[in-house]
Amino acid sequence: MPTYDVERLRRDYPILERQVYGKPLIYLDNTATSQTPRQVVEAVENMYYAHKANVHRGVFSLSQEATAMQEATREKVRDYINAASTSEIIFTRGTTEGINLVASSFGSFFENGDEIILTAMEHHADIVPWQLLGMRKRINIRVVPVHKDGTLDLDAYRSLFNERTRLVAFTHVSNVLGTVNPVKEMTAYAHSLDVPVLCDGAQAAPHMAIDVADLDVDFYAFSSHKMYGPAGVGVLYGKESFLEKMPPYQGGGEMISHVSFKKTTFADLPFKFEAGTPDFVDIAAFSACIDYIRSVGIDAIAAHEHELLEWTTAEMMKIPGMRIFGTAPGKCAVISFLMGDAHHYDTGMLLDKLGIAVRTGHHCAQPLMETLGIEGTVRASFALYNTRAEAEAFIAALHRIAPLLGIE
Ligand code: PMP
Repeated sequence: MPTYDVERLRRDYPILERQVYGKPLIYLDNTATSQTPRQVVEAVENMYYAHKANVHRGVFSLSQEATAMQEATREKVRDYINAASTSEIIFTRGTTEGINLVASSFGSFFENGDEIILTAMEHHADIVPWQLLGMRKRINIRVVPVHKDGTLDLDAYRSLFNERTRLVAFTHVSNVLGTVNPVKEMTAYAHSLDVPVLCDGAQAAPHMAIDVADLDVDFYAFSSHKMYGPAGVGVLYGKESFLEKMPPYQGGGEMISHVSFKKTTFADLPFKFEAGTPDFVDIAAFSACIDYIRSVGIDAIAAHEHELLEWTTAEMMKIPGMRIFGTAPGKCAVISFLMGDAHHYDTGMLLDKLGIAVRTGHHCAQPLMETLGIEGTVRASFALYNTRAEAEAFIAALHRIAPLLGIE
């Protein structure tokens, strides 16, 4: 296996040459969004400069080229996540829209008194859409608790099912704790009771191979911008057997077969769920993004990030008063922490002055913060281009700011 050449990879990301407050940028907010390599930006440029035309509408060559590029991406995504058919690949704006689509469309089958199961570590994107559905009908949300180490309480999970359970929706990887949930096992249990499963893959897709056939989930949502891709594109995978029966999510052009004022018929899958002009420029570029991840190798990326995670965590634990939230075995390279009693904003602002970009706050997971009994954390997360030298600079920065925060 070729060695992992992080310095060569870094040259694909001009933004990493930037300075902040006169210091080299150390970008550790990859959980929120990761940076985009030249190859993907060039694919966007190529679309604008050479192929831009609306898709699925024109007989002219340019439109047919643009359509072919969009549909080639769909096939590439299908292959990448091992879906059975391109009918199961719906382009969305992102994970959030994918989950809203399922809540609105599949949720239309739910009846008053039905129940869904979520977990205490869900991002707001997998909580609020279900609450909005709950404003239209009485849906009971049951919540799987999280153990102290950041793993799910699977006994509690199994105990939450009953004859009214209509869906389970949970994240593959926690954006706060880094926990990788046992999706296959949880799905098999839900299926043994005939309950379908939606998995939020926003934090898994950038860090591990996704095989929807193996996981056997019924819906899987993820976002391009967290996978080194353009913002504004996401994918919702859904099993054809479900998507076929589900009503459209939005109405408009592209999603119809025939429209009259008396009766409208809908397009076949996946177009039934893609109303209006899609973000065809970024969808085409998303193809370059999958090529890029494949060329580096998702397992090599995961191993590199894991090494950074292990080293950084061990060094952080040497700092007095350091609290790390999420210590599940095999976790992803996300470190949520607090230093003594220091406010997360103060820690984040001091790190920014040293050129280090970390996220602070509740990370769109307020119910999880409530469970942890805190308001928020500082979160550092790694991507394929982060280096050991950056991790060392991060640790040195923590030592430097500790006295300013009343620690050490
Ligand atoms: N779920 C999880 C676990 C996330 O981390 C995020 C993004 N922070 C989302 C959903 C929402 O993704 P997007 O904003 O790209 O729709």
